Amino acid sequence: MRWYKGNTHSHTVLCGHADSTPEAVAAWYHDHGYHFLILSEHNLFIDPDSVALPADKRADFILIPGEEVTGHQHIHTTSMNTRRFVPAHLPEGLTDENGDTIRETKRLILQSHVDSVRRAGGAPILNHPNWLSGIHAEDIRHVHRLHLFELYSGHPDVHNWGNELHASTEQKWDSLLSAGLLVYGVSSDDAHDFKKWSPEVTNPGRGWVMVRCDTLTPDAITHAMEHGDFYATNGVILSEVSREGMQYQVAIDTALTFRELDSPFVTGKKVSQGQPGFLIEFIGPGGQLLNKQETTRAAYELANAGAYVRCKLSYTRPNPDGGYEQFFAWTQPWFSDGRDTISDKDYLLE
Ligand SMILES: [Zn+2]
Ligand SMILES: [Zn+2]
Repeated sequence: MRWYKGNTHSHTVLCGHADSTPEAVAAWYHDHGYHFLILSEHNLFIDPDSVALPADKRADFILIPGEEVTGHQHIHTTSMNTRRFVPAHLPEGLTDENGDTIRETKRLILQSHVDSVRRAGGAPILNHPNWLSGIHAEDIRHVHRLHLFELYSGHPDVHNWGNELHASTEQKWDSLLSAGLLVYGVSSDDAHDFKKWSPEVTNPGRGWVMVRCDTLTPDAITHAMEHGDFYATNGVILSEVSREGMQYQVAIDTALTFRELDSPFVTGKKVSQGQPGFLIEFIGPGGQLLNKQETTRAAYELANAGAYVRCKLSYTRPNPDGGYEQFFAWTQPWFSDGRDTISDKDYLLE
């Protein structure tokens, strides 16, 4: 088993509002040490076989086929590891903007995306739930066969930390987990801009996943992610995420974390007050903070846990503007209620 670094969400000139070719986008990720990438174009399937990879390509870099199923009401869903175009059908009888039925409509749009992706043999990832009108936990919780969502996106306009319309993505995650859902958190770039660099544009290198897997193939990486064998990050790198007996153990790789945070690409959460340094928090149902330690290695006794425990590991540094910037790794939840033991066939559409 080893860790593979990947981005599940990127765009190319083919969508009309990004600035680089599929080849250039793939080369950027290859040259910056990633192991896998999805060229997830809006309602357009880019066949990885049609994309020329760098002549000096490393053996440990792959494209995973996919698309961004781009539907009505700002609901976008990555179809991971699908080898054909996946259409974004609007469910029968529903119109676009429809007052009272809007919440129900959102649920049905998302379900139709999920089912279209499953029908094509892939894994759906709900993207940027806080973008524009987005989608709320109450809508997502009645959607079946969805096990991945974007907890963090590097896109500057998607309000990961919440706004007047939306709870933070992390609060939405805890709502879903508390309601009994099996949902894992993804971090991605949603990159569009590879030529102009600024916090205001959608550059690459801001959000990614680290997947634990024995082989680097589209099927193996997708299977590992759908079963929660990965963590999401915007800069903090881990040396350990494990369960030994009833202990949930985590550790931060400080050297690798500082190397990532030295990169000009990362963008943290800006806060006005903070405590510089590392922090490890264990979080349970309802988003309740179970344990908090200013350290780089910690364990949590699962016997004390409710239905789930997840861990958030962070690093806070002062910013030149007098405030602070925070970076995170989010591990996937450990469940005490066995909800993650559902068989693979439950991921398939009947
Ligand atoms: Zn999108
Ligand atoms: Zn996108």
